Amino acid sequence: MRKTIIAGNWKMYKTIVEAIELANGLKRELFDLAGPDEIDIVLCPPFTALTEVFEVIINSNIGLGGQDMYWQDEGAFTGEVSGKMLKDAGCSFVIIGHSERRQFFGETNETVNKKIKAALKHGLTPIVCIGETLAEREKNMTFDVLKEQAHNSFKDINAEEILKTVIAYEPVWAIGTGKTATPAQAQEAHEYIRDLFVKLYGEKAARALRIQYGGSVKPENTAELISQPDIDGALVGGASLNIESFSQIVKRASEVKK
Ligand code: PEP
Repeated sequence: MRKTIIAGNWKMYKTIVEAIELANGLKRELFDLAGPDEIDIVLCPPFTALTEVFEVIINSNIGLGGQDMYWQDEGAFTGEVSGKMLKDAGCSFVIIGHSERRQFFGETNETVNKKIKAALKHGLTPIVCIGETLAEREKNMTFDVLKEQAHNSFKDINAEEILKTVIAYEPVWAIGTGKTATPAQAQEAHEYIRDLFVKLYGEKAARALRIQYGGSVKPENTAELISQPDIDGALVGGASLNIESFSQIVKRASEVKK
């Protein structure tokens, strides 16, 4: 049984005051929901609000994640934040290789690989994003892209470590566009990804690996997506910025019985 994980990626939204308000509202809405043994609920605010959000959710059923990190622990790397610093701020998770980082900030499978290793070293659970662009899907390259991203991003990572990571399948054409992959399209990609990991790490590890879907997840499409056999949760952007929509997504996901 794989534990469902719902993570909210707040991107570059929310001042500190707004972040505290959102975290308080979610804590209020979700306090009586299943505890962390049954579902992982993760908030990924901007770096500036991590500490304050942590103070709100400490001792609750909600965890904290960063949106990115650098692979060195410290040094002359202006503008970067390390895994050690995320841990210090209260994080247990970190998003790595989000398509916006790949598209706008030069993230590659090689830098993703270094970041995964550094995150694991600091005891952070990396949420590693992979997914194809619209052009790649239209050229029937989806599986090739996923294979290349998986092979290169997880280079030299062993089966024990893979179980400490989460994969987020995020078709780039579905992120922030309002276009969601159909449950069948998402399941097809998730199944393909799981099979890739069976080949890389064996049946047992791959069957235990959690693969989230991301791309315009909303309360209305949550249950159908998460009911798919290989979809183990959601990485949510836009709909995570609002108390009502994110708490509804978490509640609907927690009701899905597989
Ligand atoms: C994301 O940022 O990872 C994402 C899936 O965004 P959205 O839900 O807005 O499509």
